[in-house]
Amino acid sequence: DPSSQKTWFGHPAQLARLFTTEMWERFGFYGMRALLTLYLTQHFLFGDRQATGLYGGFTALVYLTPLIGGYLADQFLGSKRAVKFGAILMAFGYLTLCFGGETAKPFATIDGQRYEVQIEANNGTETRYVLDGDRRLAIKGNDDGTVSLLNDAGAVDRTVAKGGFVSDGERSPFFVTVMLIALCMVSVGNGFFKPNISTMVGELYAPGDRRRDTGFTIFYMGINLGSLGSQLLCPLLATTIGWWAGFGLAAIGMFFSWFLIQFDGGRLAGYGEPPAGQGPQRALGIYAAALLGVPLFYLLFSNLMNAEPPAPGAGILGYVLSLPLMGKLLFGTFLVAVPGILIWSYVNGDRREFQMMVAAMVLIIFNVVFWTLFEQAGSSLTLFADRNTELSVFGLFNISAGQTQFFNAFFIVAFAPIMAALWTTLAKRGIEPSIPVKFGIALMGVGAGFLFLVWGGQFAGPDYKVALWWLAGLYLIHSLAELCISPVGLSMVTKLSIVRIVGLMMGVWFLSISVAQYVAGIVAQVASVETVGGQVTNLKVSLDTYNGVFWTIGIASAVIGLVLLALSPIIRKWMHGVQ
Ligand code: GLN
Repeated sequence: DPSSQKTWFGHPAQLARLFTTEMWERFGFYGMRALLTLYLTQHFLFGDRQATGLYGGFTALVYLTPLIGGYLADQFLGSKRAVKFGAILMAFGYLTLCFGGETAKPFATIDGQRYEVQIEANNGTETRYVLDGDRRLAIKGNDDGTVSLLNDAGAVDRTVAKGGFVSDGERSPFFVTVMLIALCMVSVGNGFFKPNISTMVGELYAPGDRRRDTGFTIFYMGINLGSLGSQLLCPLLATTIGWWAGFGLAAIGMFFSWFLIQFDGGRLAGYGEPPAGQGPQRALGIYAAALLGVPLFYLLFSNLMNAEPPAPGAGILGYVLSLPLMGKLLFGTFLVAVPGILIWSYVNGDRREFQMMVAAMVLIIFNVVFWTLFEQAGSSLTLFADRNTELSVFGLFNISAGQTQFFNAFFIVAFAPIMAALWTTLAKRGIEPSIPVKFGIALMGVGAGFLFLVWGGQFAGPDYKVALWWLAGLYLIHSLAELCISPVGLSMVTKLSIVRIVGLMMGVWFLSISVAQYVAGIVAQVASVETVGGQVTNLKVSLDTYNGVFWTIGIASAVIGLVLLALSPIIRKWMHGVQ
């Protein structure tokens, strides 16, 4: 008798346990994400290019593995066992990140010659020196992008052209390996966890249950509640106690998530069960195989980190050939899958089905543009916060650069219910925007967020830092845009796809986000600035670099959004009434 079933805010009571499990998982993930880029640049002293490239490759894998994890759960494991296994792996991944060894030693390569670097800090200003024999030369960035070396008397010893000065840190290969293995564990674990916890939420509702959409909205709130807590706390611990404490808190959150699903007290009995006849023995085999994925991913990461940019003038072919293995695999798969599936649909579907598949694919391609911009949050935007943002709140206290990531989650929690109510109101009047129009608005919005920040760049103080509110404004605009695209995307795919290949199309949706993460890494690499010992040599050049890249991607996305709006009547027609 359904009326005797316990409910939670009018939803099946099981939603409560799935909500808290996912909330603590996201607490771990976003706590780690708030630290990662800064950890790579300030602890390991990677240059921007390597740090943002590695970050892009890692997040690309995080969004690629759900394809496999979802498949394995459907066929063999059942969602619940997959979630438990993923939770353990991720928790050990974050725990492993706590072991980072000593901060790397900075050095600089000037015109091909390597020099030791000394950093002196007093009263909040840092001076960096290169040690040249028995001489000590202060490093000073010039506003035209060159770097001057000053002798003790303050006179210019020599000036090095842009690109003549490369800086990096001397790292322990052992601890770099430990860090990469930790990231591999998180990527593999996420593949088992993330798709399958969502599937379990879907299982709570019978087909046609009208509570399904609000159920997912509540779930999305849980995601962002978890993120916002850890994005405040993990960077706080990292700056006050040490990096290990920040990652440690992420690990604690993740162990808590595992505890909630492992010991559910029978609350989730009958949900996420394995298919009939799939016993624990098969599961053990799959876990063992998944662990083999860790060294495999390690090889991909190493290849990614050691990738060299193409030689100048190498052309498109040179660029493609210079892509790391992971880039070639990702782009290759996407470029084959999209036309391949469309050709299949043309042959196997009727005219109406084919048109709906084309509409879905077009939206999936535009989806790449959205996440490419949006996912700058973890890399270039966090570096921007660290370098070119006045991190003071009303002059009362300062937040840390990693903590600025919290704005997104905060605005999602604040606005998700309002947006949901807005769509309902508009729908009642028959003027709810169609899905392609919402996608177009999202693309224009994510671009507008960057243009807003670039506008703020004009009001930067003499220290080349903009007020925190410009960055908060960007995140507000980005969050509203996210609410136009992220919740609608998944359901759009299920509704437009030919039923026989809906699982595959979901995979292509995740693949598009994965490709976007990778491209986001490339964009962040273009926004690289010169650093020594994890600090930029020149804040003006840094601000100019960010403004240039943010302006370009902002305009590009706004224009692409307009194109999508112009195309939206045709796409809508080809959607054949799907809302
Ligand atoms: N913030 C959401 C989450 O972490 C969505 C992220 C995404 O789909 N790229 O679940």
